Amino acid sequence: ELAQIGVTGLAVMGRNLARNFARNGYRVALHNRTYARTESLIAEHGSEGDFVASESLEDFVASLERPRRIVIMVQAGPGTDAVIDQLVPLLEPDDIVIDAGNSHFPDTIRREKALAEHDLHFVGMGVSGGEEGALNGPSIMPGGSPKSYESLGPMLEKISAHVDGVPCCTYVGSDGAGHFVKMVHNGIEYADMQLIAEAYDLLRIGLGASAGELAEIFKEWNSGDLESFLIEITAEVLGHVDAETGKPFVDIILDRAEQKGTGRWTVQNALDLGVPITGIAEATFERSLSASTPQREAARQKLEGKAATWEVTDRDEFINDVRQALYASKVVAYSQGFDQIAAASKEYGWDIDRGAMARIWRGGCIIRARFLNRITEAYERDPELPLLLADDYFADAVNSGVESWRRIVAGAATNGVSVPAFSSSLSYYDGIRAERLPAALVQAQRDFFGAHTYRRVDKEGTFHTEWSRDRSETQQ
Ligand code: NDP
Repeated sequence: ELAQIGVTGLAVMGRNLARNFARNGYRVALHNRTYARTESLIAEHGSEGDFVASESLEDFVASLERPRRIVIMVQAGPGTDAVIDQLVPLLEPDDIVIDAGNSHFPDTIRREKALAEHDLHFVGMGVSGGEEGALNGPSIMPGGSPKSYESLGPMLEKISAHVDGVPCCTYVGSDGAGHFVKMVHNGIEYADMQLIAEAYDLLRIGLGASAGELAEIFKEWNSGDLESFLIEITAEVLGHVDAETGKPFVDIILDRAEQKGTGRWTVQNALDLGVPITGIAEATFERSLSASTPQREAARQKLEGKAATWEVTDRDEFINDVRQALYASKVVAYSQGFDQIAAASKEYGWDIDRGAMARIWRGGCIIRARFLNRITEAYERDPELPLLLADDYFADAVNSGVESWRRIVAGAATNGVSVPAFSSSLSYYDGIRAERLPAALVQAQRDFFGAHTYRRVDKEGTFHTEWSRDRSETQQ
């Protein structure tokens, strides 16, 4: 009997994804470059479902029903290209090749084009939720052709996470759309984590509270608007005590954040598209700042900072201020991320439904949160919403928290606490809503030194002033 789906690449992610398919009743073909991995999967989990193991890629391909559905879950980059190159000659028209790794979307666009020439469907598929999600239900973001989704969609929806009975998987858009949305998801994850970290730091400094006390505050926040996986694990981490030293776990960890690159890709793409995603960018740069060891050493010795010492008089008010500032900054970061999705959708012709993206992020993935329901609702009210922040619900939420937000950012500046994501988000809020921006002066400067021209508020057309001559104005 032929298998309904195949997985090649059986390290932690592929192994768990294969088990997830099998547990959901599918007959799953297995392959891995090194056969020992396949054998160990069968030895340890063979009884969980219906597996067909093959040692060679040829046998693996032959063990699949047609049109074939083959999930590649190997190292992103050259590993993925190598597997694709070996697979293509073995496949037949209409077969579907699915790249479920963390590939960069331009690679996916390239691969989709190349496989289309062989009449093969190529699906770049974002999968979020780590090993745990892969096994028990991830959030799945598949791109590729709509036709491939007809055959693949029902299986993916079945193995994905479900929230209120709704699968956390939907067709995203053609070629690289799925991997693109996964990339922005990761960028938003960076921003969300940084914002929570700033809130933690403010509470720690402002209240002089212990990690255990802070854990309680985050636990309480997790029953309100901020309810999310990241707030939940933050409370867990803060409550954890290091077994060896008996100290709060968070205090024994080196304060240098690492990164694998998806935040950087998100920011690079935002620069290309001209979308200000300041929250994600600050979060990404902050990881780099934390890891800038020689610079931090040198700065610590020379930059005294002269700041006041934070004196919090009303504990409850302060906690509430931090919470409001966190929520407002989070709305800004998501609003910016959705702007980037909208801009990319237009640029690359993807027609992405932003409300549906928020819906499939509600479960399975790292940024899963109650708040995402609100985003889906906002885009259902107005699919063309120019700015998430301008939706009535979010505008009210942010406007009503703005005094708290200002108190916190002002307090941080006065007291010398670094809050790059909080403060840049507040700046974005004030910038994007401004009646008039100093960009007018920038335009004048550009015209002065480079004859780059400008437009006027009072008439149509493009103008230039003869700055080095008689300063007369000409219309271009
Ligand atoms: P790894 O990224 O560690 O990759 C190991 C797998 O790739 C092994 O099966 C290995 O085979 C195979 N491989 C590497 N190079 C080649 C090659 N040239 N030809 C054939 N096979 C090759 O595995 P993970 O399970 O951690 O991740 C798989 C993918 O999922 C990656 O793209 C990763 O970025 C992504 N990922 C996603 C996560 C998520 O939350 N969505 C979390 C973690 C990873 P062999 O056994 O023979 O060495």
